[in-house]
Amino acid sequence: MKCPKCSAAMESLRTSHGVIQRCTGCQGLWLDMLVNGDLKQMAGDVDSGDPVTGAKLNKVDRIYCPVCPNSKMLRMVDPLQPHIWFESCANCYGRFFDAGELTDLSERTLEEFFRKFKATARN
Ligand SMILES: [Zn+2]
Ligand SMILES: [Zn+2]
Repeated sequence: MKCPKCSAAMESLRTSHGVIQRCTGCQGLWLDMLVNGDLKQMAGDVDSGDPVTGAKLNKVDRIYCPVCPNSKMLRMVDPLQPHIWFESCANCYGRFFDAGELTDLSERTLEEFFRKFKATARN
């Protein structure tokens, strides 16, 4: 699997919440639909990237799902924290977080994400 943002290889990491992928280049994180639970704890384990790199790549938001062919990912924005967003695939529900984003967002549970975040299609 290749990183949807920088095209570097993704490596699998086993966490207590399931297997996630981390980019060997930009250290972005890919969580599939089955990965759920305490994101704060997981962020401490796996979100080791440089937030400065992450913030730069955060602006790259027209990306395709690394799993589903030709599926454009949607930008998910928290209306309460508009500086934070991440990308989600409407097809497989995978999510991509730039380095540092998961740590930033980990105050929230996943259920809260999908209640409060709204997808913004950017065509
Ligand atoms: Zn990358
Ligand atoms: Zn997908």
